[in-house]
Amino acid sequence: MPPAEKHEYQAEVNRLMDLIVHSLYSNKEVFLRELVSNASDALDKLRYLSVTDPDLLKDGPELDIRIQTDKDNGVITITDSGIGMTKQELVESLGTIASSGTAKFLKALKESQEAGVDSNLIGQFGVGFYSAFLVSDKVAVSTKSPKSDKQYVWEGEADSSSYTIREETDPAKLIPRGTRLTLYLKRDDKGFAHPEKIQKLVKNYSQFVSFPIYTWQEKGYTKEVEVDEPVEAKKEGDDEPTTEVKKKTKTVVEKYWDWELTNETQPIWLRNPREVSTEDYNEFYKKTFNEYMDPLASSHFTTEGEVEFRSILYVPATKKEDITDRKTKNIRLYVKRVFISDDFDGELFPRYLSFVKGVVDSNDLPLNVSREILQESRIVRIMRKRLVRKAFDMILGISCSENRDDYERFWENYGKFLKLGCMEDKENHKRIAPLLRFFSSQSNEELISLDEYVENMKPEQKDIYYIAADSLSSAKHAPFLEKLNEKEYEVLFLVDPMDEVSVTNLSSYKDKRFVDISKEDLDLGDKNEEREKEIKQEYSQTCDWIKKHLGDKIARVDISNRLSSSPCVLVAAKFGWSANMERLMRAQSM
Ligand code: ADP
Ligand code: MG
Repeated sequence: MPPAEKHEYQAEVNRLMDLIVHSLYSNKEVFLRELVSNASDALDKLRYLSVTDPDLLKDGPELDIRIQTDKDNGVITITDSGIGMTKQELVESLGTIASSGTAKFLKALKESQEAGVDSNLIGQFGVGFYSAFLVSDKVAVSTKSPKSDKQYVWEGEADSSSYTIREETDPAKLIPRGTRLTLYLKRDDKGFAHPEKIQKLVKNYSQFVSFPIYTWQEKGYTKEVEVDEPVEAKKEGDDEPTTEVKKKTKTVVEKYWDWELTNETQPIWLRNPREVSTEDYNEFYKKTFNEYMDPLASSHFTTEGEVEFRSILYVPATKKEDITDRKTKNIRLYVKRVFISDDFDGELFPRYLSFVKGVVDSNDLPLNVSREILQESRIVRIMRKRLVRKAFDMILGISCSENRDDYERFWENYGKFLKLGCMEDKENHKRIAPLLRFFSSQSNEELISLDEYVENMKPEQKDIYYIAADSLSSAKHAPFLEKLNEKEYEVLFLVDPMDEVSVTNLSSYKDKRFVDISKEDLDLGDKNEEREKEIKQEYSQTCDWIKKHLGDKIARVDISNRLSSSPCVLVAAKFGWSANMERLMRAQSM
């Protein structure tokens, strides 16, 4: 046997292992979900590559996962026929971790421990493999990549800062392709090596894996056998009974071991929506996108006709922090159930909707679909349109739900994205506008929709009025409001820097123009021209005097009917920037 090479773990891996081995005690069973999901990823990679390189499957066409338990010795083996790892890939994948992820993981872990949460966090940070050490003293990974003609074994122990790699030479242990993990369970965790226990965990955690998972189970069948049975019989005249042997049939159970298919492999999006529960959708979402909160809404649909595809979309409940971060892996594209990619940049979904997550499975795209094909494909354009429409329907559904909190949560998390949509997606203005929310002069610091505004308009009122300000209190105290309050016209308070930009992009809602009440030509439909003329004449000297004294600081001094109690107000020119826009521009140029 060739000697084993000793390797040291990267420092972060050491810290991580230490935490996993010594601090995580609850919910240890997630190790199975993590390891099965790695096996499934490895199978996905192979299946995808084999589309263009069918030779990759020459060592065996089956793509599956097999889990065997040895309860007497407390050993579990998990074997997949996936892409495997070369020696170098072993070192890179199972000895180092992207350190940014680790730092985040360690921080989240610390916080969650304070809050009493558990090992569930592991998968979220791309350190799933090490969860094997939640339950194992020792782990062996024997793996064969189609790129290499050698099979290698990685071995690590729970309390060690190093691992070893050696070549596999035992012919009995060679596998044609893929990876076999052997877990030597800790004394207290040997219970996981029971076949029924593993079966239960697989059913629980891996119901959405799209490759068959087989577990090694003891089975039995009954059969009828003929047995000789001694029967005592006492014949007439005899003193003692005599024993006779008679043939009798008996039912016996024959035991044997065999692989048993343990999961349902039909992808959830292919099932009939009527047969899928909300819990199933939520579970699938959490499993697929590494989320730990149920989504706010989901939508499962099939489109037919010109382009046929199936999809499940979700609106997450968790906040997406960075609005500019668009590389989000939010949509997973499958072609004929083969996972193709989740790395898109606006091709399938506009960027401003990148918070919507989901899966899309199409039969109409080629399996070897590339970025270029995606960008130019007419099919993709149609898909995109439909997906966007469905996403808006789903969001509208949240806004119409009984539960106002849900939409508040949505708006708080994703309002910004919809405002961005007002700028980037003219075509969908009519879908975005009803979803917007604003503060207003009559809503008592609650957000209202444009529909609510329109409903509340006075019969003679033609326009939708707004004022942009840097805070609710400065909006409330703006002198421009006086006249409108007097007439009981509601005024939208645009206090978020993006509000005004979105409203000016929309320019109208339900045929009602958005009108900035701080602009000079505000017409409230109550002009008395005769009287105005008189007053203008009377005060023309006063106006000249003020203009003379303020000079270049202002453009003009005018008589106006806009105020009711304040003596004067500064207004923006009709075609100039509003005061708020000026503030914004100033902030940007700094
Ligand atoms: P993640 O799955 O998020 O990348 P893991 O810690 O679970 O993080 O796994 C680390 C890496 O190890 C994987 O990205 C993959 O490259 C490799 N790996 C783990 N398990 C397997 C497997 N069964 N087959 C092939 N590669 C694997
Ligand atoms: Mg993983």
